[in-house]
Amino acid sequence: MTLEKADPVEVFDAGSKGRGLRTTKALVAGDVVFTEASYAAVVFDSLALQVCHNCFRRQASPHRCAQCKFAHYCDRTCQKAAWDEHKRECSAIKTAGKAPKENIRLVARAMWRMQKYGGRVSDSQLTTLDLLQDHVSDMVDEDVKELQDDVQKFLEYWPKANRAVGTEYISHLLGVIKVNGFTLSDQRGLQAVGVGLFPNLCLVNHDCWPNCTVILNHGNQSALDSALHSQRRIELRVLSPIKEGEELSVSYVDFLNLAQDRQKLLRKQYYFDCKCEHCSKGIKDDLMKATTDGEKKPTAEQVKEVTDFTMKALGKIEDARVTGDFEEVVKLCRECLQKQEGVLADTHLQHLRILSTASEVFSFMQDFKEAASCASRMVHGYEKLYHPNNAQLGMAIMRAGVTNWHAGLIEVGHAMICQAFAILMVTHGSQHPITKDLETMRSQTELELKMFRQNEKVYQSVRKAALDGQPLTEPVKEQVKELVQGAK
Ligand SMILES: [Zn+2]
Ligand SMILES: [Zn+2]
Ligand SMILES: [Zn+2]
Repeated sequence: MTLEKADPVEVFDAGSKGRGLRTTKALVAGDVVFTEASYAAVVFDSLALQVCHNCFRRQASPHRCAQCKFAHYCDRTCQKAAWDEHKRECSAIKTAGKAPKENIRLVARAMWRMQKYGGRVSDSQLTTLDLLQDHVSDMVDEDVKELQDDVQKFLEYWPKANRAVGTEYISHLLGVIKVNGFTLSDQRGLQAVGVGLFPNLCLVNHDCWPNCTVILNHGNQSALDSALHSQRRIELRVLSPIKEGEELSVSYVDFLNLAQDRQKLLRKQYYFDCKCEHCSKGIKDDLMKATTDGEKKPTAEQVKEVTDFTMKALGKIEDARVTGDFEEVVKLCRECLQKQEGVLADTHLQHLRILSTASEVFSFMQDFKEAASCASRMVHGYEKLYHPNNAQLGMAIMRAGVTNWHAGLIEVGHAMICQAFAILMVTHGSQHPITKDLETMRSQTELELKMFRQNEKVYQSVRKAALDGQPLTEPVKEQVKELVQGAK
């Protein structure tokens, strides 16, 4: 499924931002502007043995390519579907004795594809890799040095029998990957597993408060049609109404940073100065560094003491997480939350970071009550900061909903799961595996909620049995049967 010519987009001159993409018709939240298959993509080095090199799904025991012993696949269907893309790579890896780094593998895959099919693989492709910006001239010395090393490594990898390529062109492609490479996630969208190039998507400029979002949809795993099964396809989805002729935008960074920090990140990684409305006006910056209001307004010294303390604690938390010392993480989180109480507002970024870590670690330690309390507070802060249809917000509400559900707070849990479902219908669409999971959770919590409202005692015994991993006792079983029938 490549981009159709009829897709409602056109390239235009977006001034200082270079080229941009705009819509040729009015769009509403949840619309898919276009879908696009990757021009080329590779699995990350670190996951090369656990993720299918064709469809990018994580696999417990993938099937290995007997030739290069590097590529892994779900099964023979995926292996067959990938052969055209892997054939020359396979023999290059065999000759080299081992696979090179991911960005070099990606350049090679793009080159082989270009040499065989040309730079434009479908009518709907609006640009080519040649025309994309590489920002090589903007790079700092350190990046340039790394780029030169990579060009060298590429030339060692590129088979002598293949058509020769100039070093300048290779650095162009490496630069394009650095600024335009799109991180691909696994089938559930939970883990980053690889990187790919999507030429049309590269034309969509950044805005910290974008009107679109990109989501990867791996299609249907059980599809008999291997073409459907194997597409590494993104969807550009609309977050809020867009007028005809308006520029389409996505965000390259998480909104939950102060404007100047987002600008710094964008400059460092993408080589441009963000002049979006939210950056220029510093919209929501006040909330992200807000302190408590009212009678007991903290002094500047108090605020500094607490933020310094939290900064240090965040560093220590990171260290403790690395060594797996979760008791220490819990201790540090508790200390921070206590210090922040009455000083930092519920939307202060440092407060939200601690709540996020705390809810995660409490969940991990099976302390669902504490985890649920932190997750709920975090979500309330997020709601005041994020765009109402932000995908990260949706995912955070989903996790908070599940945590509340695990904590036995079925009413809150169900409400949050419904709320997350509404957001993900916009950002991910009804066919995405996560949305489908949420749909299942929604009906299950709905049933439990009915049960809870009719007979809380039965509900609690069912919950306890589930948490303890024990079977239900006969009388409870009977009661549940009656309740479920009543609930339906
Ligand atoms: Zn596969
Ligand atoms: Zn192979
Ligand atoms: Zn911005």
